[in-house]
Amino acid sequence: MKILVFNCGSSSIKYKLFDMADESVLASGLVERIGLEGSVWTHQPRGKDKVVTNTDIKNHSIGIQLVLEALTDTKHGVIASMKEIKAVGHRVLHGGEKFSASVLVSPPVMKAVEECIELGPLHNPANIIGINACGELMPGVPQVTVFDTGFHQTMPQYAYLYAIPYEAYEKYSVRRYGFHGTSHRYVSQRVAELLNESISNLRIITCHLGNGASVAAVKYGECIDTSMGLTPLEGLVMGTRSGDMDPAIIPFLMKKENMTAEQMDNYMNKKSGVLGVSGVSSDFRDVETAANNGNERAELALEMFAYRVRKYIGSYAAAMGGVDVIVFTAGLGENSISMREKICNGLEFLGTSIDPVKNNIRGKEQEINVDGAKVKIFVIPTNEELVIARDTKEICSNLA
Ligand code: ADP
Repeated sequence: MKILVFNCGSSSIKYKLFDMADESVLASGLVERIGLEGSVWTHQPRGKDKVVTNTDIKNHSIGIQLVLEALTDTKHGVIASMKEIKAVGHRVLHGGEKFSASVLVSPPVMKAVEECIELGPLHNPANIIGINACGELMPGVPQVTVFDTGFHQTMPQYAYLYAIPYEAYEKYSVRRYGFHGTSHRYVSQRVAELLNESISNLRIITCHLGNGASVAAVKYGECIDTSMGLTPLEGLVMGTRSGDMDPAIIPFLMKKENMTAEQMDNYMNKKSGVLGVSGVSSDFRDVETAANNGNERAELALEMFAYRVRKYIGSYAAAMGGVDVIVFTAGLGENSISMREKICNGLEFLGTSIDPVKNNIRGKEQEINVDGAKVKIFVIPTNEELVIARDTKEICSNLA
């Protein structure tokens, strides 16, 4: 069974075509700068040369059409006909409280996804366009939506509510939703497999550290807390986002700097975080290089990042009454040897410490704690697309 997975962002489309017989990737690619001048499309068919195309791509529908043509192209293609694609899976950012699991696309599902636009204004519209474009271009092929928020729907109310008047929740659905759910779900399940343990016996803290970053407490297989909130702004210090801060800073700075609500939102989401503190970059590689060259603010930004992650690990250990495994994933978590070390320095009280030799790896599955540690530490490359493909296969295999 061949399954195509799409992740449509506001100006990009990421895709992967899976052969579910062995879960291998037949082709993958990325269309960037959709609707802007200078769109770039990178297509990687398995066993063939990568194709990079520079051509203006006006909208997501045109982008998806080009991708479908490329998959069956005589030169760059990997399948003989579109008929080989049995189902399509889509990453959808926000499912609100409506979706705790992946579902088959139907008119009521699309209505509910549309109702969540208010909560995910940058992503849900692009996700919807992607689903509609596939519906038009691949009539009759079943589609599945997999929500970034879904895995976190098991949080108890005392963890997901904010201590503001209850009416804000009732009237406007203001609560913690959490994001990166597909990634937290994948790495928590995968670490249980690697440990040869049932997930229902493990208390796992998963650290998804990329440009966007979040931590989740996964107790006996269910998420009981996560660091992102109503939006992906809360929690950790991120590439360009502030993460947690005193909310009183918002009206204070708006007055001082004469900012509108929109400008303030932009300030916290785009100008803050590691970029804002270091003044160097939002890319951790640049910040690490600057710090190594003696830039003190770059060093400070990295210390702040690591300290915040360590605080969350401590608080989630308390939330779960202990911790058995800590997992690092995503761009920084998988690749930054020094950041993993910085974060774990000081966690000895929990009964663990990092082994510098085992930690000296990038982008592969590995246990990195010292031998005999009570709490295990793992690096696990995330694979959100595979989770989407697996959910899509499961849901579509049950169709008549
Ligand atoms: P997102 O999906 O949120 O855009 P990623 O998971 O791709 O983010 O992570 C991107 C981040 O990972 C970047 O800030 C990048 O600097 C960091 N990163 C990737 N490789 C390395 C590395 N070798 N060392 C340090 N940081 C890295």
